[in-house]
Amino acid sequence: MSDESMAVAEVLLPLALPGPYSYTIPHGLSVEPGAYAIVPLGSRSVIGVVWAIGSKGPNEISLRPLVEVLDAPPMPALHRKFVDWVAAYYVEPAGNILRMVLRVPSALAPAREQFGYQATGRIPGRMTPQRQRVLNVAADGPILKARELAEMAGVGASVVKGMVKDGSLVPRPLPVFRPFPEPDVTFGQLTLSPAQETAARELCAIVARRQSSVALLDGVTGSGKTEVYFEAMAAALAQGSQVLLMLPEIALTGSFLAKVERRFGVEPAHWHSDVRPRERERVWRGVAEGSARIVVGARSALFLPWKSPGLFVIDEEHEAAYKQEDGVAYHARDMAVVYGSLGKFPVILSSATPSLESLVNAERGRYSHIRLERRHNESELPATSLIDMRTAPIAPQNWLSDELVEEVSRSLTAGDQALLFLNRRGYAPLTLCRACGHHLSCPNCSTSLVEHRFRKQLQCHHCGHQEPMPHACPKCGVEGKLVPCGPGIERLSEEAARRFPEARIVILSSDLARGVFLKDALIGIERGEYNLIIGTQLVAKGHHFPHLVTVGVVDADLALESGDPRSGERTWQLMAQVAGRSGRGEKPGQALIQTHMPGHPLMNALKRGDREGFLAQEMRVREESGLPPYRRLAAIIVSGVDASETERLAREMWSVAPAAADVQILGPAPAPIHLVRGRYRWRYLIRAERDVNVQAFIRQWLTGIKTRGSLRIDIDVDPYNFL
Ligand code: ADP
Ligand code: ZN
Repeated sequence: MSDESMAVAEVLLPLALPGPYSYTIPHGLSVEPGAYAIVPLGSRSVIGVVWAIGSKGPNEISLRPLVEVLDAPPMPALHRKFVDWVAAYYVEPAGNILRMVLRVPSALAPAREQFGYQATGRIPGRMTPQRQRVLNVAADGPILKARELAEMAGVGASVVKGMVKDGSLVPRPLPVFRPFPEPDVTFGQLTLSPAQETAARELCAIVARRQSSVALLDGVTGSGKTEVYFEAMAAALAQGSQVLLMLPEIALTGSFLAKVERRFGVEPAHWHSDVRPRERERVWRGVAEGSARIVVGARSALFLPWKSPGLFVIDEEHEAAYKQEDGVAYHARDMAVVYGSLGKFPVILSSATPSLESLVNAERGRYSHIRLERRHNESELPATSLIDMRTAPIAPQNWLSDELVEEVSRSLTAGDQALLFLNRRGYAPLTLCRACGHHLSCPNCSTSLVEHRFRKQLQCHHCGHQEPMPHACPKCGVEGKLVPCGPGIERLSEEAARRFPEARIVILSSDLARGVFLKDALIGIERGEYNLIIGTQLVAKGHHFPHLVTVGVVDADLALESGDPRSGERTWQLMAQVAGRSGRGEKPGQALIQTHMPGHPLMNALKRGDREGFLAQEMRVREESGLPPYRRLAAIIVSGVDASETERLAREMWSVAPAAADVQILGPAPAPIHLVRGRYRWRYLIRAERDVNVQAFIRQWLTGIKTRGSLRIDIDVDPYNFL
């Protein structure tokens, strides 16, 4: 550095800015890359992260100085690299990714001044039995507050005060948060079955190599995958690393926290959007300091500032819920794999129904493929049969065929449990006026309002709009003519109550069952307090229902009808997962699937239990139609509050699209749901060979395009939502 130039900090701010901003470093302040710092921005102060230390020439010294460096472990270089990587991949400003890391800025606030006391080893000038007791208590163990010390020693507060004055106790800053206890890696170890043992040994060997690698743990429902990857977690913990166990659904975290505690003897750190703010501060801090060794969390746990990550486990890796759709559209499973590869540590993807993406990676040798083909207790996988709804006799306003009713009754009579699965929340997906034909739709979206009868409301499942159920048709004003069309889970439960009057019914749906209620419901199911479970996809995920024998899928065609290229794969996964909840105990399970398409290859494969056949065909179709995982997709969504302005921008963009032989642009087309939250939407779909840098293509395309007013362009790399 020459005499004239001076050191500056390049600080990334959690805002949608093109890059870091430069600040001078005040004399005497030591600043290192990764430090969390307060800097001025306009008239505000903002917390940012020092991305690099650079230098500026004398003409640029009009920069403003950095205000303060916060007392927190600096963000590791690996995490900064990860932030940059995610930003580049999803064509987002890095500041938007940093914002996800800085979700709890209060965790960076100076620790509240709290002190405890420790013995110095000096004998008090005047020793008394009371003072001796205090010394005994203060001798070992954690730092205690004066009050705690006095209490535990059974002395008055003045005794402790006297000893502080005397110099036999010294004040020490207290850790502000309850510390995370060390996991015990041998605590609740189960005896594994030979197949589990083999799989666990393979995973532990991968962990021992401390290299970047991905293992696909592919085991049938009930094979005991959790116990197997717990062994890998134990191995990583024994190396001193931090471990993340990621789950697709908040509703699942409760039961997994308990499982982790049973296995490792301590309560793990717990991270998702419903965790209380103070606890989030504690977890954020614990992850940054490295003291939180096991984190059980939702996808956003990826962005915690990991100090020494050694293993990420992604449970139910096939779940579409890992794709975040709001804000930065990222795929948490994919980014977990990226983190492992940047950080040179292994990632385990676990599922009974792996995604095609992961299976193709395994086939090509990029992932190791570890299989568990049988249930750990040797119970059989459920037998699956189809019910042809084209010919099944069924009364109007009923959705359960006689055959299904009979099988469910049989199970209930035998004292077993049954489950009816319908992946549709609410009472009815559509409400029509029989007088004028009007159907109730959302004022902000081009969608139907869904009746939620338990709540006496109409809801839009796209924007959250709610309104009371009207008595008269809002169009023609005629009363008493509004009729529900089609079933949702609430309406199905009415039919079930009619058909099975003795049944003890519980309804599991994400809008009805959350938190404590869900926990109680799951315990009730396990204890057999309920015998008929009626559920949406919430029941398809990971739950263990030992008394469940009969599973009925009310409408298997629902998911197949969407225009989503993954609909076949998703339907397969959903059916196999729901069916897989049954027959996990003593009695063999059975799944009955109601469909109008019994000849569909997917239905056939389900009936025969022919997973390999179905997957092979699905892969062929994807390859032939140029879809992921064989080619890349990216979506560009143009939206605005004015229909014609939005359309104009969408169409004008076409004329400035770069030409590239190996990139295809489909569109622009109005999005299938054209209006969402009052915004009109147009879509482009970009399709390219896997080795094409689509991000560079998109950046080049969008460079010259200006958006004015309400117009916005959103980019979705690897889209999962095509609506
Ligand atoms: P999966 O996730 O593969 O469907 P789980 O991990 O949920 O299966 O295991 C199913 C049930 O079997 C759980 O209750 C689990 O505790 C139990 N289990 C798994 N492996 C063993 C084992 N080796 N010994 C005893 N119980 C086991
Ligand atoms: Zn809406």
